[in-house]
Amino acid sequence: MHLEKILPIMEERIKELLGTLIHPETEQDIISSGIVEHIAASEAAITIGMRFPKSRDPFAIKLKNQAEALLKTHFPDAKVLVMVKEGGTAKRPEPKNQTTTGDITKVIAVASGKGGVGKSTVAANLAVALSHMGFRVGLLDADIYGPSQPKMFGVEGYLPDAEQVDGRDLIVPAESLDVKLMSIGFFIRPTDALLWRGAMAVNALKQMIHQTKWGPLDFLICDLPPGTGDIHLSIIGELKIDAAVIVSTPQQVAVADVVRGVEMFRNEQVAIPVAGIIENMAWFTPEELPDNRYYIFGQGGAKRVAEEYEVPFLGEIPIVQSIMEGGDQGAPASSIDPRVEEWYHAIADRLVGSVMKKS
Ligand code: ADP
Repeated sequence: MHLEKILPIMEERIKELLGTLIHPETEQDIISSGIVEHIAASEAAITIGMRFPKSRDPFAIKLKNQAEALLKTHFPDAKVLVMVKEGGTAKRPEPKNQTTTGDITKVIAVASGKGGVGKSTVAANLAVALSHMGFRVGLLDADIYGPSQPKMFGVEGYLPDAEQVDGRDLIVPAESLDVKLMSIGFFIRPTDALLWRGAMAVNALKQMIHQTKWGPLDFLICDLPPGTGDIHLSIIGELKIDAAVIVSTPQQVAVADVVRGVEMFRNEQVAIPVAGIIENMAWFTPEELPDNRYYIFGQGGAKRVAEEYEVPFLGEIPIVQSIMEGGDQGAPASSIDPRVEEWYHAIADRLVGSVMKKS
C-alpha cells in the first residue's frame, strides 16, 4: 500500500486510540474535548500536540504519559512524542540540545542557495504554522545581509532589554503572534548592514545565540543568510543545528544553488541532516482564474533535485499576493490567510515528521 493511503489510516487509528483516554475531571475523552490539537504521523514518528484549557491541569502529566504509552504499544516501530502547550503543567520532552539559553528541543535552520527566493518569508510562516500547531516557537533571524523578520512580525524598532539571570546578562527577545523573535536587525540600522559583515556581525550573532532568554521552546527556527559562506560555518560552529530546510524557487539557477546548500550541510565537518526542500513561488494563480496555474519559473525543479539527492520534498507554495502583503504589513500570511495557513500546516507537519525521524 502507498504511504499516502497508510498515513490517513494511521491518523484515524491514533484518533481512535486517544479517544479512549478520559480526562478524570471533565469526564470527556481527549479527542472530542479538543485537548488533542494536532496529530502528525509517519511510519517512523508520531507527534501529538495537546493543549489543556485549564492552566496547571493536575491530570496533564498523567494523560500525556497514558497517550505516549498507548501509542508506543500500538506503534512499536515509531518514535512517539507528545507535547503539551504551555498553560498545562505536563512535563516537557527533555531538551537534547543545550546550545542556546533555555531549553530548546530542536533547532531548525532555514537556508537558501541564493537571496530573494523567499527564505525569510518561509521561515516566518513556518514559525507561525508550528505555533498554531501548539508548539512553543522561537525565531532567530541571523540573516546579516537583510534581516527582515522584525518587519515581517511588525516589531521593527524593538530595542531588546538586558536582564540579569543567575549572574548572567541575557537579552530579552521580542514576541509577536506567539513567536519569540531575536534578530540581528534589532542591533543594526539597515544602512549599517555592509559594515556588519565579518567579525562584528559574527560577534553579535554569537551573543544572540548564547544570550537570548528564550525560555523553553519546542522549535527554534534559524533564518540563515542566503548562500554558503564563512558566516554559515561560524553560525554552525556556535549553534547546534538539528536539521536544515532549504528553500528554492523552481528556476534552474536557484535549483543549482540548492545542490550547493545540500552539499554544505552534508559536508562531513558540518554533518547536519537536511530535513527537506521547500519550493517557493512554485506557480501563480490569478484571482480571476482560480483553477489556472501558471508555472512562470518552470515546473518541479526543486522536487527533482530532492529526488536526485534523496532529500525529503516538504512541499510547494505558490505566488500569492497575501504572502507578499503579509510580509510588508507585519503579520506572516499564515496568520491571516487560511489557504496559506493550510499549505504551511501541511509542510510543517512533514517537517516535524522528518525532524523527529532523524533524532
Ligand atoms: P529571501 O529571504 O530569500 O531573500 P524574502 O523572504 O525576503 O526572500 O522574499 C523576497 C520577496 O518575495 C518579499 O517581498 C516577499 O514578500 C516575496 N515573497 C516570498 N514568497 C512569496 C510568495 N510565495 N508569494 C508572493 N510573494 C512572495
